[in-house]
Amino acid sequence: MGEGYKNFETSVIHEGYDSKDHLGSLSTPIFQTSTFTFDSAEQGERRFAGNEDGYIYSRLGNPTVKALEERIAALEKGEAGLAFGSGMAAVSAVLIALTKANDHIVCSQGLYGCTFGLLKLMKEKYNIHHDFCAMDDEQVLRKTIQPNTTCIYVETPINPTMKVIDLRMVAKVAKEYGIPVVVDNTFSTPYLQRPLELGCDIIIHSATKYICGHGDVVAGLVVGKKDFIQGVSLTTQKDIGGIISPFDAWLLLRGLKTLPVRMDRHTFNAEKLFEKLKQHPEISNVYYPGDRTHPDYGIVESQMKQGGGLISFEINGTKEDAQKFLNSLKLIKIAVSLGDAETLIQHPATMTHSVIPEETRLKMGISNQLIRLSVGLESWEDLWDDIEQGLATLGNRFEIQI
Ligand SMILES: *Cc1c(COP(=O)(O)O)cnc(C)c1O
Repeated sequence: MGEGYKNFETSVIHEGYDSKDHLGSLSTPIFQTSTFTFDSAEQGERRFAGNEDGYIYSRLGNPTVKALEERIAALEKGEAGLAFGSGMAAVSAVLIALTKANDHIVCSQGLYGCTFGLLKLMKEKYNIHHDFCAMDDEQVLRKTIQPNTTCIYVETPINPTMKVIDLRMVAKVAKEYGIPVVVDNTFSTPYLQRPLELGCDIIIHSATKYICGHGDVVAGLVVGKKDFIQGVSLTTQKDIGGIISPFDAWLLLRGLKTLPVRMDRHTFNAEKLFEKLKQHPEISNVYYPGDRTHPDYGIVESQMKQGGGLISFEINGTKEDAQKFLNSLKLIKIAVSLGDAETLIQHPATMTHSVIPEETRLKMGISNQLIRLSVGLESWEDLWDDIEQGLATLGNRFEIQI
């Protein structure tokens, strides 16, 4: 569990690393090595038998990676952490660890596109079934749980509709059935939301996003109980092999140090843009977890520190209007991913969620006019100027028609 610094802002910088252990190096050294030498054949035997701590081979563990794993575990208030080469490597390692053929998973209604794709693959190839559940009603959730359900898999806020799920309620119901709750905490980061403290069991991150924060790494993280993490480390991670490189682990350790400062600024900017977007005639709906007038705001307030940096909104028009708006932007970049210093914008229906059949996608609330904005760290006024001039190009459409 690490040193246990009292405050998040200290843990995020110091947890899992002591310069005294590394010749005084302030920055965590990058152990860029594939393997580790043994002092003797007997030492090698002891390490393989698990009778002596120490490194063997970087797919099984690496000191730079270990510092990152200890840091994320401390930040999520979990017992142990594990780092992966991508968020999807983390998602797949966890779901494969928790299921076998003929098992069943209950999922939140709305998932990251590739998680949806993975569940489809698991159903088609291994007969592992899943059902979606809105998770806004205890009784409905209980009815969705089957005798062969082995885990509940939740995203909140949900990508990209920003719906929120009451994690305390889900954890309470799951306990009645003795099944673990897995939370994809990518959108919130442990700075804004710590599901383990609310009774959930396993955390997954696409560290590619806010944890890295600089758009230069693809990586994943998992946090949970020591036994579970050790099990994943020795089975689905060791044998499937989706590990992170020491250099990428180092970049994440570096990015993490500014997480609280960045999240405060992302949220500040998002709140400003949310207010502006809400009032604009070219926009029909705006979805933001920090919306104080939303009926679910009580849940947000009870489990999140702030609303975060992601906003979705619907253009008052068609798919083509949404694309025209994106094309008209000058400062904001058209790109998937999120959580970077740069403000990024994308069209879920044709990009991140294009693999989902249209009927299912529309039911999930992802319309053809929906746009997702990952608000960056720039001046919000410059961002609004860009959005406003982009929306003005849609206004011209009506004038031309008249
Ligand atoms: C990006 C993302 C993932 C997948 O992570 P990768 O690092 O791209 O593999 C999973 N869940 C959510 C919510 C994401 O945004």
